[in-house]
Amino acid sequence: MTNPSPTAPGHLVLVGHGMVGQRFLEALFDSGAGARWRVTVLAEEPRPAYDRVHLTSWFAGTTAEELSLCDDDFLTGHGIELRLGDPVTSVDRAARTVTTAAGHTLGYDALVLATGSYPFVPPVPGHDATGCHVYRTLDDVAGIRAEAAHARTGVVVGGGLLGLEAAGALTEMGLDTHVVEFAPRLMALQVDEGGGQLLRRRIEELGVTVHTGAGTQRIDPGPDGRVAAMELSDGTVLDTDLVVFSAGVRPRDQLARDCGLPVGERGGITVDARCRTADPHIWAIGECAQAADGRVYGLVAPGYAMAEAAARDLTGHDASFTGGDTSTKLKLLGVDVASFGDPHGTAEGALEVLYANSRAGVYKKLVLGADGALLGGVLVGDTESYGTLRPLVGSTRLPAPPERLLLPATGGGAPAGPGALPDDAVICSCHNVAKGVIRRAVTDQGCAGVTEVKKCTKAGTGCGSCLKTVTAIVESELAASGAEVAPGLCEHFTHTRAELYEIVRAKGITTFSRLVDEHGTGEGCEVCKPVVASILASLTNTYVLDGEQAALQDTNDHVLANLQRNGSYSVVPRVPGGEITPEGLITIGEIARDFGLYTKITGGQRIDLFGARLDDLPRIWRRLVDAGFESGHAYGKALRTVKSCVGETWCRYGVQDSVALAIELELRYRGLRSPHKLKAAVSGCARECAEAQSKDFGVIATSAGWNLYVGGNGGMTPRHADLLAADLDRDTLIRTIDRFLMFYIRTADRLERTAPWLERLDGGLDHLREVVLDDSLGICADLDELMQRHIETYQDEWAATLADPDRLRRFVSFANAPDVPDPTVRFVPERGQIRPARPEEAAAPDGELVGATVIAGPRLEVRPR
Ligand SMILES: Cc1cc2nc3c(=O)[nH]c(=O)nc-3n(C[C@H](O)[C@H](O)[C@H](O)COP(=O)(O)OP(=O)(O)OC[C@H]3O[C@@H](n4cnc5c(N)ncnc54)[C@H](O)[C@@H]3O)c2cc1C
Ligand code: SF4
Repeated sequence: MTNPSPTAPGHLVLVGHGMVGQRFLEALFDSGAGARWRVTVLAEEPRPAYDRVHLTSWFAGTTAEELSLCDDDFLTGHGIELRLGDPVTSVDRAARTVTTAAGHTLGYDALVLATGSYPFVPPVPGHDATGCHVYRTLDDVAGIRAEAAHARTGVVVGGGLLGLEAAGALTEMGLDTHVVEFAPRLMALQVDEGGGQLLRRRIEELGVTVHTGAGTQRIDPGPDGRVAAMELSDGTVLDTDLVVFSAGVRPRDQLARDCGLPVGERGGITVDARCRTADPHIWAIGECAQAADGRVYGLVAPGYAMAEAAARDLTGHDASFTGGDTSTKLKLLGVDVASFGDPHGTAEGALEVLYANSRAGVYKKLVLGADGALLGGVLVGDTESYGTLRPLVGSTRLPAPPERLLLPATGGGAPAGPGALPDDAVICSCHNVAKGVIRRAVTDQGCAGVTEVKKCTKAGTGCGSCLKTVTAIVESELAASGAEVAPGLCEHFTHTRAELYEIVRAKGITTFSRLVDEHGTGEGCEVCKPVVASILASLTNTYVLDGEQAALQDTNDHVLANLQRNGSYSVVPRVPGGEITPEGLITIGEIARDFGLYTKITGGQRIDLFGARLDDLPRIWRRLVDAGFESGHAYGKALRTVKSCVGETWCRYGVQDSVALAIELELRYRGLRSPHKLKAAVSGCARECAEAQSKDFGVIATSAGWNLYVGGNGGMTPRHADLLAADLDRDTLIRTIDRFLMFYIRTADRLERTAPWLERLDGGLDHLREVVLDDSLGICADLDELMQRHIETYQDEWAATLADPDRLRRFVSFANAPDVPDPTVRFVPERGQIRPARPEEAAAPDGELVGATVIAGPRLEVRPR
């Protein structure tokens, strides 16, 4: 290698300013390159390096500036000369010069090639018609969006990671979207057969049509030369206005080939562990290089590791990159997918542990070595455990038996949290940051939140898949040290839920994308999305599954039903005040009998129907709605029931009609979305048979009127409700409850029930009284108006769903076979009804069971020794 004199820095030329090029520059100057190298960067694109991994977020409003990875201060601070829009066209190794497209020739002492990849476009007839795009750069996505504005149908060629991202973007832009994949399954590289099947199903449920095992035969332009149709190898012809090729990438190694540097058989500039090419003056890093292990990596983490190895080598330090982590965790079209380590079990003697629940849309697999070491895994539909499992790859010391690591918590599983990880477990594989480093950033370096830890350690700043784990570690360290945890909702919003509520209300915001655009960062996560969905629903009362809203909802809201442990759903019609006619009872009984459902009378005085299949939900609800029933919102963070005793009408102690009031209250507040579920009750006298003092709001009749109690709670931390006001007349009672509820919805934190909210409220019960009875904050008119709007705009979600064929599309088990029920949702008979099969019952031969969730044990060998 060239060792420039310490007094006269050598000239280092970097070709390509992409993600890895930028990381190389950072690592170079972190390693003390200042006196050694004067750096010139020659870039083909018209802008400095940007975050290509989050390119798709550009469609959702993330700007090019927000995606940028490099600011002027960095360049000027290190004296780096960046020349944009002028690609290098040739390298003269003998003269040690490069020449650019604009005709400039520059000498170098060290040359680093970081030219990335180009998207592969199958050379089919018509591939270059107007309307055909690739998906790699900001210019590409701008081109796609411009065309999509006039298009109705789009076809994505390639069902890999990027293809599905592109399909997501087209769907979001309202196009009827198809994905064509040559392999027999989606994401064939990352997920196995079972995971691929589930992924396909979930993606088809979202309205994307998937064609697997089919190649693109030809693209037919219309008379105007624009793409009009695509013919597939299986003879299918798809009419389309737009094509996005996402059929893999190829290393951009032409410069190296032209100057005689060795490249791999399948492309990629050959480098050693220090990322040196065969020429001692030239290094190659990132996607353009074939690493020392013979692989060409198409992910950013190995690219960053190569950048660091080359930077260390060029600054005289030991460096080595012999292989990288290809773990991936993403949300594709709203479906969580993760794969890590060796997901296909290619190692000798590899064993598999599987958990599959196709009804719940979950598939999980762990691959274990013969010695019990975790080798890899695939997670589809539930990637919660990814952050904990991935760092354990290679370890035989798992925090629980593998079967238990896969089972959902409700099934007796023990998903291990980040607390179970050792300090040397690598949490952020993009930047190779171990758990101990993150912990010490808090304990030793005084970082007071995730943002500071990210800055200090770089953890979570790559692909972002580890962010949830990083956050959990930081928060647990902060809590252990007694420090106050920043009140922001999550990584994407520095505001609390209550502040976001005020912002949405004051600005009349009706979409998540506008809110995150104007008051947050990034694309949102599983913490902030449901919170914002709930705020929007409380304020606008629109159908919760329309447009962008659908993707924000929690699992249960997504299908307007509660998912049960075996993947079936429960159906809970509203029975206001617990009063039901014989006809109503008969209807529910007949439906339960006809659909084979388990029935149970609940503590909330209604009847739950369990064991419904997804595709049965609309048929069941059709009959319920026709009989006058409405959604009971058992799935939502909303009012559940207003329970009542029989009251003065029947009870000889009763002093008021508790049933009539309970019905009135339940109908008034039905569908009211709130930070947590709401329960209520009305008792007809002080004997309190309806247990009103254990509810979020409870009413007890007195001879002079009604006593109102608030902030009661059953459950794990029971709390007796507080008396807010006594002897109220009906109108004052209702007005006071309206204001109490709206004040709570407006000011509570995420998932905070009324009991902890009241305890946290500054000034406590007295303050609440002043606000809702004396209008001390002057907001009562607002609260009244909000409640009035809720009442006027209420619509039954199930009736609205049944009235719209588009809305009904999400209720099929298999999008390609709409009438086929899911065979893995299984039950056994018990006490004259059904119940879900237990895992051990699943071991019984088929036919002996009505059904069971499938769990295969660790002895299932996937590869012969
Ligand atoms: C939509 C999308 C989503 C992705 N998602 C993920 C993900 O979730 N996780 C993950 O790990 N990876 C993901 N990737 C891949 C990731 O972006 C790449 O691994 C990473 O960008 C590789 O960095 P690089 O610097 O090697 O190449 P690039 O980022 O492509 O940079 C190479 C740069 O070199 C320039 N260049 C090429 N030739 C020349 C020349 N002759 N002269 C000057 N400049 C030149 C190019 O114009 C380009 O700007 C995604 C990629 C895309 C497109
Ligand atoms: S609360 Fe009073 S009115 Fe209601 S059932 Fe009990 S005793 Fe009767």
